[in-house]
Amino acid sequence: MGQQKAIKPTTTPPSGDAITFLGTAGARFTVTTQILASGGLWLNLRGTEILIDPGPGCIVQATKRKLRVDKLSAIILSHRHLDHSADVNIMVEAMTQGGFKRHGWLFAPADALETEPVIFSYLKDYLEGVEVLEEGKSYSIGNISFATPVRHIHPVETYGIRFTTAEHTFSYIADTSYFDGLCQSYGGELLIINVVLLEPKPPIDHLAVPDAKHIITELKPKVAILTHFGMNVWRARPWEIAQGLSEETGVKVIAARDGMRFELSQLDNSQG
Ligand SMILES: [Zn+2]
Repeated sequence: MGQQKAIKPTTTPPSGDAITFLGTAGARFTVTTQILASGGLWLNLRGTEILIDPGPGCIVQATKRKLRVDKLSAIILSHRHLDHSADVNIMVEAMTQGGFKRHGWLFAPADALETEPVIFSYLKDYLEGVEVLEEGKSYSIGNISFATPVRHIHPVETYGIRFTTAEHTFSYIADTSYFDGLCQSYGGELLIINVVLLEPKPPIDHLAVPDAKHIITELKPKVAILTHFGMNVWRARPWEIAQGLSEETGVKVIAARDGMRFELSQLDNSQG
């Protein structure tokens, strides 16, 4: 009885750029109940791995999905709110192998780092460095560059991010109220939009579904991904909202799912 020949995998492992959604919960109640996970976004851009907005449970979501935290090159916080920063300390601990390997960068707005820092000072020492995010600035991590074009309208200092890689551009529109100038600050083939509300609810500084529709119509990305759902959006079934927005805007709109991995190569097959 000969040994069975090793079976070659029929699918080649994904080699390109990808975004993994370690959670899709936004604002208080979907996060505090963990109806949805709240671990942020994990980018793998040509081997450079970057974590954005590690909310509560990020370490659980990342390890469960076999993502190697010690491979991260940087952690970026769009702002200091708990659902975006709660796990930053444990993620720095894991990224630096408990501080034994000084490694990686933290990017965050000044008010996440100054009066009441979201990161413990002893963990900050484990990092290669900390960079302060400011309006209109650009930054780089390895061969990836990103910009924080505009300060958002949100109770704490908040920025969205526009990424540029060798092959792709995409934007992450973090928490904010809608304002003129939001659209002109972002762009790219892919938009990731934090949509907490079904309808605008002033004075709550979050985007609602009609805001997302307006942004998508204005910017016409190849694909838009909705995430960071508040309870009412969740109850209204984000995938049905996305379907409706696809029909209304003519843009492919996807509702993120916990654990969803989006390969940026999908953009190359989408109609612009
Ligand atoms: Zn917030």
